Amino acid sequence: MKLGLNLSFATKRWLEPKVLAALIRDELQVEEIQFSWDLLNPWWPAELRDALAAEWGQAFREAGLVLDGTFGGLASYTYPHLLAPREELRQVALDFFKRAIDMTIAMGTDSIGTPLGGMDHADAYDEKRRAEIYKRTLELVRELASYGKKAGLKQILIEPTPLFTEFPGTPDECVQLMEDLGDTDIPVLYLLDWGHALMKPFLNEEADVDIWLSKVKPYIGAFHLQQTDGLLDRHWGFTQEGIIDVVELRDKLAEYGLDHMTQFVEIVYPFEATDEYVLDDMKKTMAYLRSRLAGGAK
Ligand code: FE
Ligand code: MN
Repeated sequence: MKLGLNLSFATKRWLEPKVLAALIRDELQVEEIQFSWDLLNPWWPAELRDALAAEWGQAFREAGLVLDGTFGGLASYTYPHLLAPREELRQVALDFFKRAIDMTIAMGTDSIGTPLGGMDHADAYDEKRRAEIYKRTLELVRELASYGKKAGLKQILIEPTPLFTEFPGTPDECVQLMEDLGDTDIPVLYLLDWGHALMKPFLNEEADVDIWLSKVKPYIGAFHLQQTDGLLDRHWGFTQEGIIDVVELRDKLAEYGLDHMTQFVEIVYPFEATDEYVLDDMKKTMAYLRSRLAGGAK
């Protein structure tokens, strides 16, 4: 199992490219990383944003890190994006994601990922509105893929989320969306976050590794790894007790021929946790995962 790192842990803490790059390499000893839009906002003025993006990309390369792509973070996740109640807001979301693609290219990498957005309460519970928004979202994702192709992007990753007001959320919804999407100008795949896929209050008996992998396997491009209790989407470090056993997970992935794919460790800390605590917890998390995968004790 290949361990990578989503840079979510650095949000509001390590904001200088060279410092963060060195911390990842020297203290966390990870090579493959996924940048978070929480460290660089796609909405910032393009010239400044792309200059900063280039600086981040260079710092990672100089530190010998492999930047696999960029991914929406906490800030971006709060907005309705493509599932918004009004067409003008969906257009703004499309613009936002296009800007994220531009920023990603400026960083010197070629993959973006994000959840699609979130619906208004009334829309989510109205079957007809839900179907309309779903249909419109398919068109917008296709349009984004066309833009991505022109910009030099390689792929778009969609992250399923465990909320009724969002889609896709279940294994069947994931399959349906890919079938309905059909051919796109660049590949659109899923990034499966285990903390979402195993959230029992939302998925019930479908909160199951076998069900997810057997149904969604052809469409999976990457994973987010976190510790969780399966009750909420926790994003805990592996210093906490939880339902994810990384050795069991590795064996399951191997069974489905997916063990070559990177598991990007995505830990989210409370803003008020001290930087010292976060760094220590991240070091322990990475050390624990490596040791477990090498045959160490739980
Ligand atoms: Fe995630
Ligand atoms: Mn998550």
